[in-house]
Amino acid sequence: MSTKIEVKNLTKIFGKHTRQAQALLDEGKTKTEILKATGATVGVDRANFSVEDGEIFVIMGLSGSGKSTTIRMLNRLINPTSGSVLIDGEDIAAMDAAQLQQVRREKMSMVFQNFALLPNRTVQQNTEFGLEIQGVDKAERSDKAVKALAMVGLQGYEDQYPDQLSGGMQQRVGLARAFANDPEVLLMDEAFSALDPLNRRSMQDELLDLQDNLHKTIIFISHDLNEALHIGDHIMIMKDGVIVQIGTPEEILSKPADDYVERFIKGVDRSQVYTAGNVMVRPTMVNVNNAGPRLAARRMRENEISSVYAVDGGRHLLGIIDAKDVRQAIADGREDLKPLVQDIVPTTSADTPLAELMDAVSSTPIPYAVVDDDNRLKGIIIRGAVLGALSGNEVNVHA
Ligand code: ADP
Ligand code: MG
Repeated sequence: MSTKIEVKNLTKIFGKHTRQAQALLDEGKTKTEILKATGATVGVDRANFSVEDGEIFVIMGLSGSGKSTTIRMLNRLINPTSGSVLIDGEDIAAMDAAQLQQVRREKMSMVFQNFALLPNRTVQQNTEFGLEIQGVDKAERSDKAVKALAMVGLQGYEDQYPDQLSGGMQQRVGLARAFANDPEVLLMDEAFSALDPLNRRSMQDELLDLQDNLHKTIIFISHDLNEALHIGDHIMIMKDGVIVQIGTPEEILSKPADDYVERFIKGVDRSQVYTAGNVMVRPTMVNVNNAGPRLAARRMRENEISSVYAVDGGRHLLGIIDAKDVRQAIADGREDLKPLVQDIVPTTSADTPLAELMDAVSSTPIPYAVVDDDNRLKGIIIRGAVLGALSGNEVNVHA
C-alpha cells in the first residue's frame, strides 16, 4: 500500500495571538495554559499521521478534541496555523486558490452530518449539486448522479423530494452526492451520527460494501467506538487537540494507550470486532505422512490433550486423531496414522467475526480449526481463549 495523505506537525490555533500561542505550544504548554495566557484556543496540536491509499481511517475523540478541525485542514476548509498536509506528496498548504479548487474538485469530497440536502430540489438534483457548482455539463452530471444513486440503492427515487424520504435515505443521497464526484478521498465528519442505531449500522455496512468495490481513501470522524471499530482499518484517537493513539481496531482494544482510551473501550462489544484469527491458538498436530502412533501419543501426553489434529506435509487439515485409537494402534502394532484420521473437524476462516462463532464454539465438542483458502491449518479456537479475548485479555493482533 502507498501513502495517500501525510500530515506533519499540523497545528491550528484559533483566536488572535496565534504567534504567541504557537511559541507557548512549542515550549510545551497545555491547551488550558495557552488559553489562559493568550486567549487563543488550540484546536489541533502538532498532529502527525498518515493515511494509506484505499483505507478507512477513523478519527475519534470527545467533543472539542479537534476532530473536525483536523479533517477540515485536510482540504483547507480551515487554514492550518503551521505544519503540512501532503496529498499524493503535494503540500496542500502551499497551493494557490486555483490548485486548491482543483484538488477539491478532483480529489476530495466532504460528507457532512446534516446531509445539507436542499429541500426544494429533487433527489436527482441534490445529487448533481456538487457537479453543477463545478460547472460539469448537464448530460454528464445527470449520468454520474444516476449511477451514484444506484450505488446507494436509491434508483427509482430520483424525482422525489428530500422530505419524502426517511433519514437513512436522505443520508444515502448525501453519500451519493459525494460519490457522484468520484473523489479519490472522502472526508466524512460524523456523517452517520444523526441516524438511529439501526439505520446507522446499515449505512456502515453499505459504506463497507461500496468500499469493497471502489477502494476510496476515507477519513471518517466518529464519536462512537463501536462504529469506529466496525468500519476502521486504522483508528486515531484525539484528546484536547492532541493525538493520543493510532492503531488498528485490535491494537486499540488490546493495548489502549492510556485511561482516556480505556474509558472509550469499556462497553465495546468485542465479539463484533474480534475475528477467529485474533483468538486462535497454536494447535497440536501431527503430519500423518511421516509420524506414527508413538509420536502422536507423545504429543498428546506432553500437551495433556486427548486428540491431535492431523495434517499432511503441506499442513493441509485432514481431520483429528483420538488418543484411544492411537493406544489401540500401538497395542496392535500398527504404524500408519492415516486410517485413524476422523474427518469431523468443524472449520472456519481467520476473518470470521467472533460474534458469528460464539454459539458454535461453545457447543462443539471438537475445537474449530481455522484454515486458509487452501485448507491449511492456521490455528484452533478453544473456548477459554474466546472468553479471555471478550473479557479484555490480549489477542493475536497480527493474525
Ligand atoms: P470536535 O470536532 O472534535 O468536536 P473541533 O475540531 O470542532 O472538535 O474543535 C476543537 C477545538 O477548537 C475546540 O476547543 C473548539 O472550541 C475550538 N474551535 C473549533 N472551531 C473554532 C473556531 N472557529 N473558533 C474558535 N475556536 C474553535
Ligand atoms: Mg466536530
